[in-house]
Amino acid sequence: MPHSSSTALFNLGEFGLISRIAAGVRTHESVITGIGDDAAVTALSAGMQLLTSTDMLLEDIHFRLAWHDPYRLGRKSLAVSISDIAAMGGIPRWALLSLAIPSDLPLDFVDDFMRGFLAMASENRVVLIGGDTCSSRAGLIISVTIMGEQLPDRIVRRSGALPDDDIWVTGTLGDAALGLKLVELEVGGVVKSPPFQGEGQGGDGVDFLINRLLDPNPRVAAALTLAETKLVTAMIDVSDGVLADYGHIAEQSGVGGCIFLEDIPLSGDFRRHTAGLPAVPYQLALSGGEDYELCFTSHRSNRKKIIDCMKKCGIEVTRIGIVASLPGVTVVKPDGSKYCVQVEGFNHFT
Ligand code: ADP
Ligand code: MG
Repeated sequence: MPHSSSTALFNLGEFGLISRIAAGVRTHESVITGIGDDAAVTALSAGMQLLTSTDMLLEDIHFRLAWHDPYRLGRKSLAVSISDIAAMGGIPRWALLSLAIPSDLPLDFVDDFMRGFLAMASENRVVLIGGDTCSSRAGLIISVTIMGEQLPDRIVRRSGALPDDDIWVTGTLGDAALGLKLVELEVGGVVKSPPFQGEGQGGDGVDFLINRLLDPNPRVAAALTLAETKLVTAMIDVSDGVLADYGHIAEQSGVGGCIFLEDIPLSGDFRRHTAGLPAVPYQLALSGGEDYELCFTSHRSNRKKIIDCMKKCGIEVTRIGIVASLPGVTVVKPDGSKYCVQVEGFNHFT
């Protein structure tokens, strides 16, 4: 990146940067007043309730500038928040973006970050309606607040799972965690930039796995379809590994669960790259973070309907276990013996 760009950010100043961000925003009729006033004004659709969630992404904790190109970092910053709204069955609508930017960060970086953020916004019909901008002496700090809406009886909480419900997940698990291992192995930790666009299975599958880490795709259409059917008793997005995340459903629903090891969905690229490593693959798939798939529960009589409606969305869905009445989540091997999991998802402070 040209060094002159860092001077440009300095010259632009806070308000210049805000105007530059605002210029790229595509608005929506629900936004009455967007960026530029003291507060944004938006209109909820008739009969809908507001869903709100916020996430922070800190340099060297959630991302590394050496791994994450700015475009995909921008996409992911919003994707993880959209995923939270989706996991509640909500329609993502409005986002606030607060940035603390090291003053020597090149302007090109901020431009590419915003291009990625606003592309993810457009793809999901989310409008950026405000935020805050300041300088940072402790690396890049990104905070995203997202709002969505939904009819009250379509909102899906973590707390509704019932004993004997099936446990389901969308897509495949462990790809992002394996992608992280692959990124860590890259010489000097530097990923060729800008290498991987879309979810194409490029090369030997390394691109696919790394892209699952750097550019997750929130399962909005699948989540909204599930919410509409009202077949789902509880739902969560898989951000910390399915074992930990299903664990949240179990805890908040006052139930337990049994997960069948053999039924954990693994991608072809995941299988290929972990062939010959006996224990590691399932550890990654159960406890690796950042898949951003959906984990949900539903009565066993809904099996066919769930498969059919996910097929319509073009999303794979797999039944991975059964909700148990007694607390505690166990993973069971095909021979019926218990599988011991070493790490239960990512946890700050531990
Ligand atoms: P205030 O001083 O009232 O906090 P600011 O000067 O921080 O206002 O912000 C001016 C406007 O620009 C507000 O509408 C705010 O929401 C918006 N804004 C500031 N930073 C960002 C950002 N990073 N992304 C989007 N909008 C922003
Ligand atoms: Mg402000």
